[in-house]
Amino acid sequence: MDYDVIIVGAGPGGIFSAYELAGAGRDLRIAVLELGKPLAERKCPIDGKKIKSCIRCKTCSIMSGFGGAGAFSDGKYNITNQFGGTLYEHIGKTEAIELMQYVDAINLSHGGEGTKLYSTANTEIKRMCLENGLHLLDAQVRHLGTDINYVVLNNLYEELKNKVDFRFETAVDAIRRIDGGYEIQTGKGSFTCRKCVISVGRSGSKWMESVCASLGIPTMSNRVDIGVRVELPAQVFSHLTDELYESKIVYRTQKFEDMVRTFCMNPHGVVVNENTNGIVTVNGHSYEDKSRHTENTNFALLVSKHFSVPFKDSNGYGESIARLSNMLGGGVIVQRFGDLVRGRRSTEQRIRESFVTPTLAATPGDLSLVIPKRILDGVIEMIYALDKIAPGTANDDTLLYGVEVKFYNMEVEIDQNLETCCPGLYVIGDCSGVTHSLSHASASGVYAARCLMKEM
Ligand SMILES: Cc1cc2nc3c(=O)[nH]c(=O)nc-3n(C[C@H](O)[C@H](O)[C@H](O)COP(=O)(O)OP(=O)(O)OC[C@H]3O[C@@H](n4cnc5c(N)ncnc54)[C@H](O)[C@@H]3O)c2cc1C
Repeated sequence: MDYDVIIVGAGPGGIFSAYELAGAGRDLRIAVLELGKPLAERKCPIDGKKIKSCIRCKTCSIMSGFGGAGAFSDGKYNITNQFGGTLYEHIGKTEAIELMQYVDAINLSHGGEGTKLYSTANTEIKRMCLENGLHLLDAQVRHLGTDINYVVLNNLYEELKNKVDFRFETAVDAIRRIDGGYEIQTGKGSFTCRKCVISVGRSGSKWMESVCASLGIPTMSNRVDIGVRVELPAQVFSHLTDELYESKIVYRTQKFEDMVRTFCMNPHGVVVNENTNGIVTVNGHSYEDKSRHTENTNFALLVSKHFSVPFKDSNGYGESIARLSNMLGGGVIVQRFGDLVRGRRSTEQRIRESFVTPTLAATPGDLSLVIPKRILDGVIEMIYALDKIAPGTANDDTLLYGVEVKFYNMEVEIDQNLETCCPGLYVIGDCSGVTHSLSHASASGVYAARCLMKEM
């Protein structure tokens, strides 16, 4: 065998697997195969001047390369079982939290020291939410910030590069079972290994499906989250963000009894494009460095949809809504809340005259032509509910960007060791459908590495 372990994908799941394996003192031969570039070479061509919006590069530098989708993220590591994935269903609640704390300690020792850990427990805000029909979920949140997150990744790479073979710009095409292990086929030749850990994230979802089909690994459909990204003056949410940084708030709508939730809150942050398999949606992040702060805070409002019979393709549903927004707006659409509730589109002029300056150059338009009524009604209802705890949320000039879609990978059938029905083949992180956050993906990487070493 060329290697003892091959890890496919260098996102947080793959990195923390490699870290655990390399640090175990077992002298293992480990390779990480990654279709994107090393961290230092990852550059999105959007410069705001010559290139203003996504040009759909063949390999997206935001989603791929060392650090995975999390490399330029806000670096919010949520230590909780209440959201971010269902890893605890496989490994137990206590172990899941302990692993997230272990990952947190590694991040701190690799450049994250001094960053703040926020907590939602027993806060006055929790009471205020309950009084207004809103539910604040419990979590501890380590906010590294985009800048420190980069430093941590860089330090991890420097530590690992002499112990692990990193092969960048090496997309894995197929995985084949061979006697005693696996053959990993890439455009740059084939490699063999005794054990394989797949951690290809959301961007590798389609590829993951093909691997499961070819190896006979059972899968189940998952949900999709659809909604908008809200951007407003940072002062409106400052009493929440100063104390909690990120508040995950859930609201049950009166009209349809649907659950709407806040997601990925970025105080003083920026709204950004996200390209998933050529479809442009919206996301957001913020910097720890105060000199890079903006005057705005952004967060997503999302509604989950899960289809099962006869239509199963929840992601396909989300994709077609995102495609519709790309067709109408050439990418992401932005609309003032006041325009939306008055039933009119936003125009360049209305956005220019708005008191909130957009941080993303999106196309002014009408989100009601894109987002299904039931979802949009839920979003509007929640904006009015949030207005009670953060007055100003429902102002006319609040900006809504659409669409924000959180695609979830189909759930891969894995056991309590995160191992598939193919012995020695582990599926971790977001591509397993079990995690959808930095902390859960990283924790799953550590856990799989430990299980795998017990077997060797
Ligand atoms: C803009 C943005 C902001 C975010 N902010 C946060 C946040 O603040 N907090 C949070 O908890 N989560 C956040 N997330 C989500 C978080 O980044 C992911 O949950 C996390 O990165 C998942 O880790 P992973 O290792 O499973 O997959 P990924 O990070 O997606 O890594 C997978 C890697 O596999 C590679 N790959 C794919 N297919 C192949 C192939 N066939 N061959 C070889 N390599 C392949 C990809 O190039 C990629 O580098 C954010 C995501 C985005 C896009």
